[in-house]
Amino acid sequence: MKNNFTYDYIIVGGGIVGLSIAYKLQKKYPNLTICLLEKEKKLSFHQSGRNSGVIHSGLYYEPNSLRAKNCVNGRKQLVEFSKFHNLNYEITGKIVVATNQDELSRVKGIYERGKLNGLNGIRIIDSHEIKEIEPHIQGIKGIWVPQSGIIDYSEVCNKFAELIKKINPKSSIITNSEVISFTKGIDCKIFTRNESFLSKNLIFCGGLFSDRLAKIDKVNKNMRIVGFRGDYFKLNDSAKKKIRNLVYPIPNPKFPFLGVHFTRMVDGSVECGPNAVFTFKREGYGKLDFNFKDTYDALSYQGTWKLFFKNWKFGLNEYRRAFSKKLFLKELKKLCPKLKISDLSPGRSGVRAIALLPNGEVFDDFKIIKNNRSIHILNAPSPAATSCLSIADHVINLIEN
Ligand SMILES: Cc1cc2nc3c(=O)[nH]c(=O)nc-3n(C[C@H](O)[C@H](O)[C@H](O)COP(=O)(O)OP(=O)(O)OC[C@H]3O[C@@H](n4cnc5c(N)ncnc54)[C@H](O)[C@@H]3O)c2cc1C
Repeated sequence: MKNNFTYDYIIVGGGIVGLSIAYKLQKKYPNLTICLLEKEKKLSFHQSGRNSGVIHSGLYYEPNSLRAKNCVNGRKQLVEFSKFHNLNYEITGKIVVATNQDELSRVKGIYERGKLNGLNGIRIIDSHEIKEIEPHIQGIKGIWVPQSGIIDYSEVCNKFAELIKKINPKSSIITNSEVISFTKGIDCKIFTRNESFLSKNLIFCGGLFSDRLAKIDKVNKNMRIVGFRGDYFKLNDSAKKKIRNLVYPIPNPKFPFLGVHFTRMVDGSVECGPNAVFTFKREGYGKLDFNFKDTYDALSYQGTWKLFFKNWKFGLNEYRRAFSKKLFLKELKKLCPKLKISDLSPGRSGVRAIALLPNGEVFDDFKIIKNNRSIHILNAPSPAATSCLSIADHVINLIEN
């Protein structure tokens, strides 16, 4: 079916990044007509609805990087937005805990980075203070971060969608609409499986498929997305009291993951995870999921093999842990020694979009590219959910300039 109406903007992708950009653009320019196209039957079906639900503080990121700036600014905006719209969130604070000498040597560096990123009130804590904050957690030293919190990102996404339609009823959010190609003539023409749409401008926020959408537009020949699945376990009701809020390990700087952590969710449940396992299907949430194209794309790319060779030991351990509750527990027990196998039940999974460079390095900042009448959010890893409103400002700036 052909639609003759020409929108001002078509945004591809109904995750938190696409929705926040649509919301902020609509709020600033209420007369703009925006159409958001999402391939799934509901919004926030992938990364945005399958994450840890943590409002990140901005502790870990390279000062002045896009991640550092947008996380700090985005967190403040997200909290204000959630307060104003009465969404379910809580600023709980978190502890980041060192459990061995190697981690201990990294505590000060992370603390100083947090200070440089403007986190007032963070402080280094000793084992007694760790116990006062989280009585069941054991560590040599740690960092108390008062700014961190918890939220339901799917609720945030639905609120953005509701507000967009309220501000301009001519704008639309269409699910079950997978974009398969587009052309740029006088207007941009975008094709889904069953329909075509016209628009003056395009914004692509395809998450795990950002590289493929960019390829159609002939941008980004250098970066490929590979999926890393993260599995969670849940603490059973009788064990939930072992965790009050948020407990993280000191991250290993060699890897782009924060390590398995404990998270109290806004619904009161407590999750532990996620691990980080290379997946053979970008949007595959089962341990044995496989997709030929995704696997071919990943394994025919030199960056993937370079990453594997450099980190084979880490990768192997993560794989073993994905299939063994006992090994998962062993990792968790480093932080919470009294945890028992009977405390854990299998939980959900999410897949992170990891942007790999040809040399096997992970590109660890946000990457946003402007092309002729289109903008691509090429890389929006964690903390993009926390940062979404600030990322939207960044994109609007690109449009205005
Ligand atoms: C396990 C895990 C834990 C995380 N924890 C946190 C956390 O605690 N805090 C935090 O801030 N961040 C966290 N993150 C990161 C955060 O969730 C992501 O950075 C963020 O959700 C990215 O949003 P997005 O909109 O770019 O991607 P997505 O949410 O993946 O959305 C992209 C959307 O585009 C759609 N799409 C793709 N291709 C097409 C197409 N051709 N046509 C139409 N639609 C298309 C997809 O269906 C999808 O809905 C975590 C991520 C994971 C996976």
